[in-house]
Amino acid sequence: MEFATFAERADAMAEEEGDLATVGLVADALSAAGDDLAVVARFLRGEVFAGWDGRTLSVGPSLCHEALARAAGANVDAEEIEDRLAETGEIGAVAAGLDLGGQTGLGAFGGGAGGADGGLTVREVYDDLVAVAAATGDGSESFRRDTLFGLFTSASPVEAAYLARLVLGEMRVGVGSGTLRDATAEAFLEADVTTPTDERAENDRTEALVGVVERALQVTNDHGRVAEIARDEGEAGLRSVSLTVGRPVRSMLAQAGTVADALEAWDRAAVETKYDGARVQIHYRDPDRDDATPSREPGRDADAGGDGPVSIYSRNMEDVTAALPELVEHVREHAAPPVILDGEAVAVDDDGEPLPFQEILRRFRRKHDVDRMREEVRVELRAFDCLHADGDDLLDAPLSERRDRLRDALDAGVSELLVSDDPDEIAAFEADALEAGHEGVMLKRPESTYDPGDRGRSWLKRKPDVETLDLVVTGAEWGEGRRAELFGTFEVAVRLDRSAPNADAAGDGVGDAAGDDGATPDGYATVGRVATGITDERLAELTDLLEPHVRSESGQTVRFAPEVVFEVGYEEIQTSPTYDSGYALRFPRFVAAREDKSPADADSLNRVERLADENGTN
Ligand code: AMP
Repeated sequence: MEFATFAERADAMAEEEGDLATVGLVADALSAAGDDLAVVARFLRGEVFAGWDGRTLSVGPSLCHEALARAAGANVDAEEIEDRLAETGEIGAVAAGLDLGGQTGLGAFGGGAGGADGGLTVREVYDDLVAVAAATGDGSESFRRDTLFGLFTSASPVEAAYLARLVLGEMRVGVGSGTLRDATAEAFLEADVTTPTDERAENDRTEALVGVVERALQVTNDHGRVAEIARDEGEAGLRSVSLTVGRPVRSMLAQAGTVADALEAWDRAAVETKYDGARVQIHYRDPDRDDATPSREPGRDADAGGDGPVSIYSRNMEDVTAALPELVEHVREHAAPPVILDGEAVAVDDDGEPLPFQEILRRFRRKHDVDRMREEVRVELRAFDCLHADGDDLLDAPLSERRDRLRDALDAGVSELLVSDDPDEIAAFEADALEAGHEGVMLKRPESTYDPGDRGRSWLKRKPDVETLDLVVTGAEWGEGRRAELFGTFEVAVRLDRSAPNADAAGDGVGDAAGDDGATPDGYATVGRVATGITDERLAELTDLLEPHVRSESGQTVRFAPEVVFEVGYEEIQTSPTYDSGYALRFPRFVAAREDKSPADADSLNRVERLADENGTN
């Protein structure tokens, strides 16, 4: 395709305001792209390389401005370009407004494409930009500048506008990933509903085809390749694309959510520690397999990593292999290739305890002094997912199966996992995670597939508690089994304000719902039970703290004089007949014993009422 044709079509897309019409224009451009289809698809998104490909142009605004100024002749310098940019606010408009060499018959320079008669092709532009990306070492900057100068010199105004936008990654044609996806389906996959065409069936079919393109995009991370497969092999070809070990895919992401959300939606949840580190996707090729693909295309950043069988990518698919040699060693020692792992790189101290996030940042993208830094900050892997193992793509397998495959493929460094429908058990897991210094927990739908790049409702990062309450401990249950000597579930209560309407009601109406013997101490009303979520060691301390205050005991149940205050986290406050107060904390969680507080400092029913009001649950 002529680059001028590409630029004119891009310009028409930029002018078009309607989404559907834009999709149509993009579909036309793809259909007309011929051998340049892959490049045209990427260029329309303002990309030269596929998403998984780590190559970059290393062309910043000033280099681009210098190349443009030179192509514009002796009267224009980079400063002039910057002044014009300040006026128009957009580099494409500036480039289109210059009197460039091609228009004055100056001709191309050095290695640049095209010639005095213009006539740049998409392929020539691409080849030059590949050379720009490959340039390293001494003289690479002037090579980049000269090559761009050559391109600009051969460019017509509209070509110059899109060249400048392309190299700076500011296409402004309004072709997002979704537009390109829809256009690919429209251009190459016929919505061929043959028998009596009804509109609904056709829409469903179109939607299904768009879904097929979307999945192929998720798997390959390459708009160009997906467009080619759609055109050359159709729907079946797209359905059979597979992951390539060594090419990163986008990471699946999480939304904020609560334990209540998770259990209500899924009945049970896969609960994992949320590690406070940096996301890593680790690809381990089997060097002995024929289908092993090298991690980098020729010309990729040689500093990025070794050419060994292990490559590590950041959440943004940047190659960070060289910065994390101990993870490379770990994977070579403990994993079975070929495999793609998803996980978190965490900084740990000498005892393996987690260090704050800032510490991993000191290691993560480092290219120099890696060995020295390795002595200072130790990094370990916590793998929580497996995208490919032993030749099988697992994106469409449920999480539970992917976790099984993860355990089979990696014998050390797998994150902890609890699958549970019991809020208390989840609270206990979370408390352990917090106590061990982690950020919290992730809740995942056990049946969910791995959807690259998706921030859906299948992965929830549990919201931190908004506000905690200081509550008086009024009762407990003895534990069971190994915890028989320790208190287990604690009943907690708010203080009844003297001024509160319920103040005199405990034991009479308000107090009667308490169950047990209804013996909530005067002046207090229960709001919930905090199930441990506490280590045995901590439970023993709490048992020692509370035992002197036992007032009565019947069976497993113990009642206390109101003396000890617990700080308690929760997800929500609901109205509820279960407790004296008329309110119940949802998913209460033990935070701390507040030995610095007396019952008079505990939170009041008024505050709980106010918080419930703010929640909108009242
Ligand atoms: P956020 O960065 O707050 O959106 O939280 C999502 C991030 O948490 C992910 O991108 C991971 O880097 C990190 N994370 C830590 N532990 C896990 C886990 N068990 N599962 C998924 N993501 C995790």
